[in-house]
Amino acid sequence: MKKNVVIYWCRRDFRVFDNPALFYACKYAHDHQMLFLPIFILEDYMVNAHADEQCGYPSRFVIGTFVSQFANKFKRFIVLIGKATHVIKLLVAQYNCIIFVNDDIYPDFNTQIKKLRESNIPIHVCVDALTIMPETRTLNGLYYSIFTPFKNKVWQEFCSATIIQSPKLSATTYFEEPLDSVFKQCEPNKILNQCSQSRLLKVGDQSYNLDTVLSLPKQYNLFYHNDDDALRWLKKYISNSIDVYHEKRDFLGKSYTSKLSIALAWGLLSSRIIINELRLKFQSDFKYPVTSELGAQIFITELIWREFYRYLHLHYPQLHTAPFQEKFRTMKWLSGDEAHSRFVAWIQGLTGYPIVDAAMHELAQTGTMHNRSRMIVSSILTKNLGIDWRWGQEYFRAMLLDLDESSNTGGWQWGASVGADPKPIRIFNPLLQANKFDPNQQYLRAYLPQSYFDSPPTPIIEHSQARIMALQRYKKII
Ligand code: FAD
Repeated sequence: MKKNVVIYWCRRDFRVFDNPALFYACKYAHDHQMLFLPIFILEDYMVNAHADEQCGYPSRFVIGTFVSQFANKFKRFIVLIGKATHVIKLLVAQYNCIIFVNDDIYPDFNTQIKKLRESNIPIHVCVDALTIMPETRTLNGLYYSIFTPFKNKVWQEFCSATIIQSPKLSATTYFEEPLDSVFKQCEPNKILNQCSQSRLLKVGDQSYNLDTVLSLPKQYNLFYHNDDDALRWLKKYISNSIDVYHEKRDFLGKSYTSKLSIALAWGLLSSRIIINELRLKFQSDFKYPVTSELGAQIFITELIWREFYRYLHLHYPQLHTAPFQEKFRTMKWLSGDEAHSRFVAWIQGLTGYPIVDAAMHELAQTGTMHNRSRMIVSSILTKNLGIDWRWGQEYFRAMLLDLDESSNTGGWQWGASVGADPKPIRIFNPLLQANKFDPNQQYLRAYLPQSYFDSPPTPIIEHSQARIMALQRYKKII
């Protein structure tokens, strides 16, 4: 007779607290006296380098680290290797399974779920990816496409989100039998050994092996390694720094931002947990409009930007490759050898705009980049250098530890002025940005090599000339 097993399928939600799929899987197992089995499915794109990276080496590094840490929380945690839909069908063929998973805004997730449901796989998809109601609409019944009205509408709902308590893992009865040999498995702490360290990138008509273009680290500083660490990091940040967030978050030399994006992108924390901590610390429910606690208020606004991009991605999955504003879909970007040589100079931190070059070194060395710098480098690549925003988006996908498809796509479309929430075509002046946000050159000194100061490269294109040309290009469309 087939064994009754409740499976928690962990994807990008490496936390015990406020994890709906984990909570309901444990509850179901308990209520129905079934055995519990947490799994992670290691798919080919998470292990091997592909030119059209869904998952760059930094993402593979994060998966290897977080799965191994998360597995320690459970009496038994299994990593299965293969295509997710195939692995789940095998499980259902062998056992009397019911599967719990958190939802995701990634389009390929919905395709997987659809396929599983078509095969009558009993799968519960729990609401997790968005904190607000996904179907939130304007008074005209449309989806929001402009940030400020969206923020005004959802603020209260976002700030009053409730959290789900941790399940009682110690009181859960695990499925302990060895799995059949049809399943290919990997020890959770051996994932990194399986992962390719190569970094391939395909943009336009060209593929790059990034290891030959740059010298890149194999190890990264992740700030925190599991959900407990991340929660401690959050509490410390709220105690020590959040009060000055609104004044200092844009400064580059000493960073005053939270560095929580890796935790949010990989589900060590949810936005709900962060809001809950803010409510506790300030003894406030942040009723809109908030008139005090400016630091926390602006911080919440940034979390709502993240929510906005997720909401947009959910309702417009085509955003991944197409600008939100239709008129820009026919925009002509630079192509051919000139485009590629400018792109490589941008990657290598050799554009001749020191603030841009420092930021590109920051990304290569650390796997992250300050938000202000992301705004500057995306503007310079698309406006000054005339390169398609999708090349930058792909490069960031291959390089970021905090890769979040919605924020990355949203950020790139914002930088290229082709996205939702249209603003006048904003062209950053790299020199003014550096003077304002890195007045003592602390950021430049931290990331640029001495040789850069000894013989600074000349700008690929002089800024005022680049600005005029960019405006001409955009004005043809507007
Ligand atoms: P904090 O300033 O401390 O902000 C707290 C949290 O709010 C962040 O962790 C993040 O989750 C959210 N947040 C802050 N700013 C933004 C923003 N502008 N848009 C969306 N969410 C925001 N963020 C990612 O998490 N992953 C990405 O892949 C990503 N790609 C980006 C690409 C571009 C071109 C741009 C302009 C922005 C991108 N961002 C991305 C947003 C932002 O740069 C990072 O979230 C931020 O730098 C992370 O640092 P932090 O955690 O210290 O942020």
